[in-house]
Amino acid sequence: MWRMAVVRALRARGAGAGAGTPRAASGGAEAQLRRRLESELEDIRGAGTWKSERVIASRQGPHLRLAGGSAGIINFCANNYLGLSSHPEVIRAAVEALEKFGAGLSSVRFICGTQSIHKDLEEKIARFHQREDAILYASCFDANAGIFEALLTPEDAVLSDELNHASIIDGIRLCKANKYRYKHMDMQDLEAKLKEAQKHRLRLVATDGAFSMDGDIAPLREICQLAQKYDALVFIDECHATGFLGPSGRGTDELLGVMDKVTIINSTLGKALGGAAGGYTTGPKPLIDLLRQRSRPYLFSNSLPPAVVGCASKALDLLMESNAIAQSMAAKTQRFRSKMTVAGFTILGKDHPICPVMLGDARLASVMAEDMLNRGIYVIGFSYPVVPKGKARIRVQISAVHSDEDIDRCVEAFTEVGRKHGALS
Ligand code: PLP
Repeated sequence: MWRMAVVRALRARGAGAGAGTPRAASGGAEAQLRRRLESELEDIRGAGTWKSERVIASRQGPHLRLAGGSAGIINFCANNYLGLSSHPEVIRAAVEALEKFGAGLSSVRFICGTQSIHKDLEEKIARFHQREDAILYASCFDANAGIFEALLTPEDAVLSDELNHASIIDGIRLCKANKYRYKHMDMQDLEAKLKEAQKHRLRLVATDGAFSMDGDIAPLREICQLAQKYDALVFIDECHATGFLGPSGRGTDELLGVMDKVTIINSTLGKALGGAAGGYTTGPKPLIDLLRQRSRPYLFSNSLPPAVVGCASKALDLLMESNAIAQSMAAKTQRFRSKMTVAGFTILGKDHPICPVMLGDARLASVMAEDMLNRGIYVIGFSYPVVPKGKARIRVQISAVHSDEDIDRCVEAFTEVGRKHGALS
């Protein structure tokens, strides 16, 4: 009887407001909020900074199918540097972890959310980076949000490169340490700020290892020398380096020979290491122990799902077995950079798979990116405020799974489109 009554009640609701249709605005406060939001959204559109999302109807990879569009689009804008996002062994590892350990933990780590695979992955990350211990987060954004507040007090100081990633900036905002911002990769300015910061108990220099807009690499040797001179610690964010920079893909610290001088590394599992999601901090054991006690995004957010852990764990296995994938990516990067330079384009950075094709004018970058897509090449134009005024560019990201033909087609399309729009003479 009661079942029938429930069904009747649900039917009546469905017939009225329309089950599954959005609830209409109610009350003055919500109407006021809607007006304010619409006007803010209009401002964003008006400023030309609206970010739209293209919908992909296939796996992440070098070749994509866009929803409602044709297949075979060559993708040059993912952080899938090593092509592991769709690697068969990575996918199999995820399925196995899902079957053995379930969909998720329904818990934070310290209540009942730690499985053997979490501990194994933390041990593997520490071994990969040759550090004492590691701690997992739901993302590197969380790792960056959690570390500064847990580590630094008002007695301490943090010195941050002005072009550091938004998550480092936000993480630093959350802490009560004294804040110094030095000019991008400017060692004179860093030294001046380190001198000023001598009055504090502890100094932490924080920098991206590789900067994602320009594809440039932090001068870690010089940073570490200054850190030694002024008794400071060094923190690096290795999201655009882990897995492929350095002779065995350990990152910027390996590339520049300072693995023993960088104290703390934060990085992501969501780019080269399988591309699923997740982040981590690796470094001295007491620091990791403290983060498990104090770091708020770790303490108050769900554990990483087993399938995600499975992906990252397999990605690390593949990288520790051989650096052939990273070498293949480096060769393709070299091919793209040199062919584009010969074609007459200016590419920022050096040897990094982030290849910013400099165009200057925002409209030119946007129109050219659109025309590249018409030719089956998916790239993205960046302009102010994401990059400085007058420095608009199309950012191309190379992956180990691009074929030489993919790279050559991209260069050909750039050359055609560049000539058409006057970017090349
Ligand atoms: N740090 C840098 C330098 C990044 O580029 C990103 C992602 O774009 C992050 C941190 C955040 O990483 P995640 O996607 O794991 O949150």
